[in-house]
Amino acid sequence: MRGLVIVGAQWGDEGKGKVVDHYARRAEMVVRYQGGANAGHTLVVDGHKTVLHLVPSGILHPKTVCAVGPGCVVDPRALLGELDALAAAGVVIEPERFLLSERAHLVLPVHAAVDRAREVAAGRDAIGTTGRGIGPAYEDVVARRGIRFADLGDPAHLRGRLEALLFERNLLLAGLGAPTFEVEGLLEALAAVHARLAPFVCDVGRAVADAAARGAHILFEGAQGTLLDVVHGSYPFVTSSATVAASAAIGTGVGPRLLTDVIGITKAYCTRVGAGPFPTELDDAIGERLRAAGHEFGATTGRPRRCGWLDLPALRYAARLNGLTGLALTKLDVLSGLEAVRVAVAYQWRGRTWDELPADPAAIREVTPIYETLPGWVGDLGGARHLDALPEAARRYVAFVEEAVGVPVALVSVGPGREALFELADPFAAR
Ligand code: GDP
Repeated sequence: MRGLVIVGAQWGDEGKGKVVDHYARRAEMVVRYQGGANAGHTLVVDGHKTVLHLVPSGILHPKTVCAVGPGCVVDPRALLGELDALAAAGVVIEPERFLLSERAHLVLPVHAAVDRAREVAAGRDAIGTTGRGIGPAYEDVVARRGIRFADLGDPAHLRGRLEALLFERNLLLAGLGAPTFEVEGLLEALAAVHARLAPFVCDVGRAVADAAARGAHILFEGAQGTLLDVVHGSYPFVTSSATVAASAAIGTGVGPRLLTDVIGITKAYCTRVGAGPFPTELDDAIGERLRAAGHEFGATTGRPRRCGWLDLPALRYAARLNGLTGLALTKLDVLSGLEAVRVAVAYQWRGRTWDELPADPAAIREVTPIYETLPGWVGDLGGARHLDALPEAARRYVAFVEEAVGVPVALVSVGPGREALFELADPFAAR
């Protein structure tokens, strides 16, 4: 049995969808353990394009069981929309193949309303959330007023829970000058949700532990990236959940010993969406070029992503936090055609050298990266299916990253297509 955790090792958008799809073929179970409807897998079934944000992409492999763990927050309307889209594409989801945790919390319309009302009130200082209510839903988890799938079966109990939640949320909405919510409408909508989703609701942690006990390979699918972790990321410019690998155990409901392997996905360069520190950011023609060549525009918002050189202090920090056993290096093809490629190997700040991302807000804002310059390469890498098929300078780049981070590269991705990658090590191999 292997328990493979796949995490973004940067600020998200590392190409997780493609890497998870690749490994999902070899797993009997794929589990989402944090975040909401913000993963993104574009699946093409018989020429029919379906984008999944919540349902793990393993759903297209007929034998793979997909689970949404207790660490996730789930907008039931978005989930039903995905299940309907899959059904329309001919993929019928039986309860044996899709498990929804009874302990997962719901993202309600009131959460999205809070998200949007705050952004409107913040005006130019808006942090640019996706406006789906994921942050406010997580706030309600720790504030103990959230609604879980386990709460939907008993209308009297649910009414009490909703009243408590709306009491606080309506105060805030009214204060922000936004419309408030009524219990009745929500109760009715949630009864319909319960009717449709109840067959899928179960104890996900138990199902995963049982499968592992039978020797099944489990893939734990992370969302966002390590540097957006609510505690360990570039606080306060972070997401609202724990994105590091250890979160896979908590967010699934299993012990940490089931997590046997951890692959961190990193682009061959860096990007970041929205505000927050970004030590290796490029404000020049090279940054523009990375953005154009890598199509670095937000998947939901279309906003241009900030681009920069690969940041090894940040990647080392991610390797330590996640206990990475392998790296998946994506978008190596995007660097093709540059005369020289630079990599930040350390930071300097006030006469001190840092080999990992600092926590001090002034330090993280003001550090000066120390760069090493490596020779560039030319040519389309998209057809490479082996390390030897890469130009020598590209191979050298891969070896340099591996050496500097101290983690072996397990997979290299060389183009947007599903097949445009190759493995250097198999995380599911028996050992
Ligand atoms: P995710 O949210 O982590 O899956 O990342 P994104 O949505 O930003 O990345 C997915 C996009 O990057 C998709 O359009 C992929 O086709 C593309 N992509 C993934 N890997 C590669 C690669 O190695 N090279 C190139 N050029 N594109 C890639």
